[in-house]
Order: sequence, then C-alpha cells, then structure tokens
Amino acid sequence: MRIRLYPDPVLRERSVRVEAFDEDLARLAAEMTRLMLENRGLGLAAPQVGVLKRLVVVSPDGEPGREAVLINPEIIHSEGSERADEGCLSFPGIYVKVNRHARVVVRYQDVAGEAHEMEAEGLLARAIEHEVDHLDGRLLVDRMSQVQRMANRRRLRELTIRYERRLVQAETRSAG
Ligand code: ZN
Repeated sequence: MRIRLYPDPVLRERSVRVEAFDEDLARLAAEMTRLMLENRGLGLAAPQVGVLKRLVVVSPDGEPGREAVLINPEIIHSEGSERADEGCLSFPGIYVKVNRHARVVVRYQDVAGEAHEMEAEGLLARAIEHEVDHLDGRLLVDRMSQVQRMANRRRLRELTIRYERRLVQAETRSAG
C-alpha cells in the first residue's frame, strides 16, 4: 500500500459507499491508520491509497491510539469558520491557508458497521472536512485561491513531472 500523489487520476474519482463490513475492510482501516501515523498525517482517505471506498481515518493530534476510523462519513451539521494552514499527504511540501468550518458533527459507521455521531472542532473538524472532500474527488488544489496556486505552481509542477516519470517507468518495465 502506498500513498497516491497528485495528479494521480484516482484522486479525482468519487468513492462508493461501504456495504460489506468484513475482515478486508478492517485490514484496510488498520493499514491506512498505520500509514497515516507513519507519515505524521492527521487524516487519510481510502482513495489516497487507490481504494475507491468511503472510508477515512483521522487523528486529532498525530498521537497513536487516538485515531478514528470513519466509514460512510456524512457531515450532518457545520458551523463557524476558521482559516488555518492545511496540508495533504498527496501534496507533499504544500501548505496553504484554507477556510473550513470551526465545528462539525459527522455521522459515520465503525468497522463493525455500528452507527455513531462525533462532534469535532478546530484541527479535527478540519481534518474531517478535508478527508470527506477526498471521497468526492475534491482536492486541496481545488480549495486554493488563484494566488495560492501561483505561489505553489513550482511544487505542483514538480509533482506532475514526478508522476509522469513514474508512468513512463511503469510502461518501460511492462514493455521490457
Ligand atoms: Zn488530503
């Protein structure tokens, strides 16, 4: 399992609802949690590892043991507004100020299929909104203003070149 980087087209797909709460799902959630913590992320969505399922993992502070797995998450209430720095494991090296709600209530299922609601504020609310965006193919770059995109254009270009190079390498491998 590896983290897919911008502009991998899988990041643009819409993920489908999880219906089967089986061992494979539990394993996916556990591996994604490990990957998130290893990379010091505050969240990771299944499409970021190439799996188009509505599953995200979030961590309120990057500390192991405090993370949560949210399956079929739906933000049912949001209020307030906060502007703060935001990054994404699919956009290494890019941090931009983004407006998000200050407080959200999210309804979700756990790995056993049990329904829950969670209230979140600040950084955790931000992480949840960011990860739910991923499930609809919405990315950090879409939340950037034109000025922010200009300021980060070099880094975005580097990521594009890196992605294209990887494609060429994969083709060469399969041809040879
Ligand atoms: Zn992200």
